[in-house]
Amino acid sequence: MTLGKGASQHLVFRRREQFYFAPMTTPAKPYRARTVGGRTLAPETLMMGYGYAPHLSEGALKPPLFQTSTFVFETAEDGKASFELAYGLREKRRGEEMHLIYSRINNPNLEVLEDRLAVWDGADKALAFASGMAAISTAMMTFLRPGDSFVFSEPVYGGTEYLVHTILPQFGARGVGFMAEGGPDAFRAAAREADALASASGGKVAAIYIETPANPTNGLVDISLARELSEARQGPHGRPPVIVDNTFLGPLWQSPLAHGADLCVTSLTKYVGGHSDLIAGAVSGAATWIGQVAVFRTILGTMTDPHTAWLLLRSLETLKLRMDAAEAGARKVAAYLRSHRRVKSVWYLPFLPENHPDRPLFEKQCRAAGSTFSFEIDGGEAEAFAFLNRLQVIKLAVSLGGTETLASHPAAMTHSDVPPAERQRLGITESLIRLSIGVENPDDLIADIGQALILPGSGAP
Ligand code: PLP
Repeated sequence: MTLGKGASQHLVFRRREQFYFAPMTTPAKPYRARTVGGRTLAPETLMMGYGYAPHLSEGALKPPLFQTSTFVFETAEDGKASFELAYGLREKRRGEEMHLIYSRINNPNLEVLEDRLAVWDGADKALAFASGMAAISTAMMTFLRPGDSFVFSEPVYGGTEYLVHTILPQFGARGVGFMAEGGPDAFRAAAREADALASASGGKVAAIYIETPANPTNGLVDISLARELSEARQGPHGRPPVIVDNTFLGPLWQSPLAHGADLCVTSLTKYVGGHSDLIAGAVSGAATWIGQVAVFRTILGTMTDPHTAWLLLRSLETLKLRMDAAEAGARKVAAYLRSHRRVKSVWYLPFLPENHPDRPLFEKQCRAAGSTFSFEIDGGEAEAFAFLNRLQVIKLAVSLGGTETLASHPAAMTHSDVPPAERQRLGITESLIRLSIGVENPDDLIADIGQALILPGSGAP
C-alpha cells in the first residue's frame, strides 16, 4: 500500500493513548519486497502479503476492511498538505507520502489491491474500478477530445461495442474499426483512415484500442504492431496510447504491457474476482499514462469500493490455482468437442492450423489459451438453444472466468444489439455457443455436454 502513512500515523496516535499496547521493539518487516535471498518472488507468492504491513493494522494477518468514506486528519496542516498533493498543487517533498483522505481518492483496500494487480500485469501502477466498463470508459475518456479519432479492433465485448459506436461519437470522438481476422493490413488501413478522419476534424488519433483475444471469436491482434502504429503517430501532444483489453487471458496467460501496450484493461469481474460474486475492473500501465487516468477516475468517481477491493484481495490469493485448473479443464473439454460429430468447429486457440496467420501471434503473445472459447453446433439457433436448455451441470449465464462453467449464446445474448449483418461479418452466427470452463472435474463437464448434445428424440449421440 503506497499511501499508508496516514494509517500509520493514526495508529501511532492511538498507541500513545492506549498504554496497554506493547511498544514495538523490532523493526517492521519489509512489506513491498519482491525478492528473498536473491530470488525473485513469483506473483502467486506475493499475493499473500505484498503491499500490506500488518503493524499498521493492529497486527491483523489479513488486510482489514476499511469500510469508511473518509479519513481523520490529525491537524489542519495535515489536511492542507494532503490536498496540496492530491490536487497536484505541489511536488511531493522528499520521503513524503500522501495521506489517506477520502475513499474516492484513496483507501487502503484499494491500494493493496492495486499494488498486487500491478505485480501480475508487470506494471508501474494499477487502478481499480467499479467494473470492467468503468475501467474502459474512464481510460478512453481520459485521452479522447472532440475532433479526435481512434482505432479499435472488432469484434469487441458488447458493452465496448456500444461505447465506441454510440457513446463516444456523442462526445465528438469517432472510431475506425478493423476486423481482428483481417490481420496487419486491415489494422494499418484503419489507422490511415483514422488519420484522415482526425485531420478532417482538426483533431488527432488519440487512442488505439484492441481486444485480443476477441470476445467471442478468439481472433488475435498483434500488440507490437499496435505500438508501432502508435509511435508512427507521435505528434506535439505525444502519441496515442495502446490500450489492450486483457480480460480473456489476463493476468496469467497474457501480459500486454510486455508486448508494447501502454495500458492494460481487465474486467476483474471475470478470472480475477473468479467467483461470479462481484463486478470490478482495472487499468494498469506506466506511471505517466496511469497518472492521467487516475485524475479522471477521481473526478468521474469510477473507482471500486473498499468491500469489493477486499473480496478481490481474497480472490487474488487463489488466482493462479483457479486459472491453472480452468485452463487444464478447458483443454480436455475442447478436445472432446472437436471429436464430436455434432460440433462443426471449435474456436480454441491451440487448434489453429500451423499455417494460420494467427498461429505465430498466439505463440508470441499468449502463454496459454485460457478457458473461454466458442464452438459451432451443427444447425442454427434452434439446435444451439436445445443444447443450452439440456445442460444440467453447466449453467446458462453470460459471464466468464468464474469457478463454475458457464455457457451462453453470443448472437442472442451479449452481442444481440449488433445488427444481424454485422454479426455475420464478425462470425457471430446462430450456431455459435460460448463456454467459460471453471474448476469442476472436466470429466463431469464432458458428461454434461455429451448428454446435452444428444439430438432430442434420437437417443443417440
Ligand atoms: N471486456 C470483456 C472482454 C468482457 O467480456 C467484459 C464483460 O463481459 C467486459 C470487458 C466488461 O466488464 P464488466 O462486466 O466488469 O464491466
